[in-house]
Amino acid sequence: MAQHKINYLQEAGLPVALTTVDKLVQWGRSNSLWPLTYGLACCAIEMMATGASRYDFDRFGTIFRASPRQADVLVIAGTLTKKHAPFMRRLYDQMPDPKWVISMGSCANTGGMFNTYATVQGADRIVPVDIYLPGCAPRPETLQYALMLLQKKIRTEKASRRLEPKRLV
Ligand code: SF4
Repeated sequence: MAQHKINYLQEAGLPVALTTVDKLVQWGRSNSLWPLTYGLACCAIEMMATGASRYDFDRFGTIFRASPRQADVLVIAGTLTKKHAPFMRRLYDQMPDPKWVISMGSCANTGGMFNTYATVQGADRIVPVDIYLPGCAPRPETLQYALMLLQKKIRTEKASRRLEPKRLV
């Protein structure tokens, strides 16, 4: 909008909102993140607590969804086994773009204490991860903080962001 028009509106006492389409889209996305209901092990208990009334994830506009078609955040909460990894990848692929991933806890980050033949040594070998939460298990406050970091990240991304899916290893 031309500066003289802004001055005119301000002098007339009318509200003026200046933004770009990118910023508007980023704001909308960051305030309506819908994670997939997807727990793998004990970390999922803390994820469920985050969604319950005491911590109240809903106040961030964050509502858990039971279908990957309606979700744009995957919280990998728990131990990822090699047997289960293809199913997780399939769920990730079924989520519409743009989408984000939070790796919750030591097991999802690195395999944790399970350095065995059966455990994936880091969920980022299967899907691209945006935020890693340390801890065994991370508390609900940590997951809330991770969500706030993700919101911050989304607000600085291009609205047209699309991730190239990684290949399954
Ligand atoms: Fe369980 Fe700890 Fe692994 Fe989380 S990080 S799934 S709490 S063993």
